[in-house]
Amino acid sequence: MAESPSTNTTLRLSGKIAIVTGGASGIGEATARVFANQGVRKVVIADIQDELGNQVAMSIGNERCAFIHCDVANEDEVQNLIQSTVNTYGQVDIMFSNAGIFSPTSQTVMELDMSQLDHLFAINVRGMALCVKHAARAMVEGHVRGSIVCTGSIHGREGGSRSTDYTMSKHAVLGLMRAASVQLATHGIRVNCVSPNGLATPLTCKLLGKSHEDAQEIYKSLARLEGVVLTPKHVANAVLFLVSNEAEFITGLDLRVDGGFVPNDLCRV
Ligand code: NAD
Repeated sequence: MAESPSTNTTLRLSGKIAIVTGGASGIGEATARVFANQGVRKVVIADIQDELGNQVAMSIGNERCAFIHCDVANEDEVQNLIQSTVNTYGQVDIMFSNAGIFSPTSQTVMELDMSQLDHLFAINVRGMALCVKHAARAMVEGHVRGSIVCTGSIHGREGGSRSTDYTMSKHAVLGLMRAASVQLATHGIRVNCVSPNGLATPLTCKLLGKSHEDAQEIYKSLARLEGVVLTPKHVANAVLFLVSNEAEFITGLDLRVDGGFVPNDLCRV
């Protein structure tokens, strides 16, 4: 169902042009919906899942949301995403670089399969870098004081007993964010990360081979905060804060949406 933007007159993203990578599903989809509800002029969903992406765009409402096919690991496709957005809507104000994957098998450092690592890095690291690079160029060229948010993870903070390639990739995302936040500050462009705890999304349900409800039960044990189950909407609201004017002096931040996760918890999974 198309959601009409909130009736609140203080819409936080009024008139903005936003891109959400990985917007066909999970955290990206929830964020595209929150952006649309907060008055963006257009939110462009970029994803490799064309049918799903188009369905999500249609359910948000085509007047406020569009879908563009983009494999973030492919520089030509990322350039096309940014260029088409600029050509059609005039500029890019917000880039939520969120598309990411887990590896099909969770390996220790001694088990590392390098082709699996290369594939994961192509999307989680190279893909993130390409989206930040080309969004930043468009913002600088367009004299836009834009906002970029990348999706990190609790795996970007700590090592765990497995998931070595994923842990490496999310540490790299934090490094990218920190370098970009310093370099782009002189252009008035803010760059931050949002780092969620584990949560049930199509990605993790598939990985665990569990239903949404069963995956939620598993992830409950990863958060210390009682009585709340982390959902994509919680993460989307954190992204909304980071890209809104309320955060206009915040850059270089890793905003953790982790329910009080403490180090060593990753050794339990
Ligand atoms: P999801 O699978 O529900 O959504 C990810 C989307 O990214 C999918 O629509 C997928 O098609 C898209 N995608 C995958 N590869 C792509 C590519 N090469 N180009 C463009 N799009 C591509 O997963 P999610 O859980 O919403 O994950 C989103 C982000 O959140 C990822 O970066 C993930 O690492 C991160 N994250 C997830 C969790 C979790 O527990 N679910 C926790 C922390 C961080």
